[in-house]
Amino acid sequence: LSSHRALADHYGQLATQAPTSLDAFWMPFSANRQFKAAPRLLASASGMYYKDVEGREILDATAGLWCCNAGHARPRIVEAVRKQIETLDFAPNFQMSSPLPFVLAERLAELTPGNLNHVFFTNSGSESVDSALKIAIAYHRARGEGQRTRLIGREKGYHGVGFGGISVGGLPNNRKWFGPGLPGVDHLRHTLDIGRNAFSKGLPEYGIELAEDLERMVALHDASTIAAVIIEPISGSAGVVIPPQGYLQRIREICDKYGIVLIFDEVITGFGRIGDAFGAQRFGVTPDIITAAKGITNGCIPMGAVFLSDAIHDAFMQGPDNAIDLFHGYTYSGHPMACAAALATLDTYAEENLFQRARDLEGYWQSGIHSLRGLPNVIDIRNYGLIGAIELAPRPGAPGARAYDAFVHAFHHGGLLTRVTGDVIALSPPLIAEKKHIDRIFEALADALRASA
Ligand code: PMP
Repeated sequence: LSSHRALADHYGQLATQAPTSLDAFWMPFSANRQFKAAPRLLASASGMYYKDVEGREILDATAGLWCCNAGHARPRIVEAVRKQIETLDFAPNFQMSSPLPFVLAERLAELTPGNLNHVFFTNSGSESVDSALKIAIAYHRARGEGQRTRLIGREKGYHGVGFGGISVGGLPNNRKWFGPGLPGVDHLRHTLDIGRNAFSKGLPEYGIELAEDLERMVALHDASTIAAVIIEPISGSAGVVIPPQGYLQRIREICDKYGIVLIFDEVITGFGRIGDAFGAQRFGVTPDIITAAKGITNGCIPMGAVFLSDAIHDAFMQGPDNAIDLFHGYTYSGHPMACAAALATLDTYAEENLFQRARDLEGYWQSGIHSLRGLPNVIDIRNYGLIGAIELAPRPGAPGARAYDAFVHAFHHGGLLTRVTGDVIALSPPLIAEKKHIDRIFEALADALRASA
C-alpha cells in the first residue's frame, strides 16, 4: 500500500507542478513561442473550476474545449474509469470485442434522432468526420451508385484536421498550408451575416435563401455525382455561426430530393450543448449521419462516434456473411476505457437532467451575454443553447489581437477560461453552471473587454 501511495504522489506531483522545460512539446493550434514566454498551465479541475499550477482558481466558461458538459471530475465517471483500467485495459475490436462497446452503442442509439441506430466508434472529431465521409461514399457504392463521390461542405465550416475534414472544411488557415486536399469537393456559402443579423437572439432571421446554394451545386455538378453534404448545425471553431431560421430544414429537403446523404457534424452541438441530446432534435431535422466526440466522454478520455441510419448501415450488410462489411477502423475504436467513461457520462447527464438544464438556463444566458452590447468594439453577439459568441471589431493591422488580449486579460485578472477564434470570444460553459457562475462570466468578460479596448 505504501508503495502504491508513493507512486500516486510521484505522478500527482508531475501533473500539478510547473514542468522544468517547455521545449519538447509542440502544442497544437498554438502560438508556441508566445505561449512559452508566458505559459498558462492548468493543474487540476473540479466542477465548474480549474486550478492552475500556482493554485489560482479559474472559472471554466468553455467546458474545457466544448467537452466537459457535466463539469470536471464527476464522481461516477472517475469511478467507472478507475474500475475499467483495473479490469480490462485494452481489447481489440477487429473480429474480437468486449462487452462495453455493445452496451454503449445501444445506449447511444436511444439518444440519437430518427433511425440513426448504428454506431461506429472513433477517437476524435476529426476521425469521426473522415469516417463519415468515407462511409457516405462507400454507401453509394454499395448501392451501385459508385459515381457519387463528390463531397460538399461550407465556407467557414470546421470539420477537424484530417485530409477529408480540411477538404470539406472552409477555414482558409486550416487549408492553405496543406496542398489541394481531396478532389471533387465544393462549398456552400456560410450563413454569417452581421450586416443583417447583428445582435440576433437565438436563430437569426435572415439567410434561409443561402440553402439554395445546394440547388446550384446540383445544377452545376449533377446530383448523380454528389455523395454527401456536411454541415455543423452550429459551427464553433469558425467563431460560432448559428443557422438562420429554416435553413437546416431547407438543406434536408434538397438532400431528400436528390438522394444526397446529409451529415451533421455535431462534435460540439452533441450531448446537451443546445438543450437536447443532439442539435438534430432541437432543430427538428434528422440527418442520415451524425458525427460526435468531445461530450461523449465528458472530455476525459478521447472518443468519437459516427451515428448511422438503418438504411446506410444495412446497405453494407448485403454481402456473404463472412465478408468484412466495412474496411475501415482504428486500433482504439471502442476502447474499453473510453466506453466506460462514456457510459458513466451518459448516466451523469441523465441523472442530473443536464440537457434540460441547458434549456432552462438559456434565457438567463441570453440576457447575460447581450448585456455586453455597447462595450468597446463589440460588433455582434450571438447565442443559442449554452453557446455564446462576442465578436469584436479587429484592431487595425492586427486581426484577432483584440480578442486574444481580452482572453488573456480574462484569464489572468478575471480567473476566467474563455476561447478565442479570430476576433470572436466563444463561450460554452459546462451545463452544470449556476446563475452565479453565469453572472461572474459576464462580469469578468466586461472587465476584459474594457481593458483590451
Ligand atoms: N468537427 C467539429 C464541428 C469540431 O468543432 C471539431 C473540434 N473542435 C472537430 C470536428 C474536430 O474534433 P477533434 O479536435 O476531436 O479532432
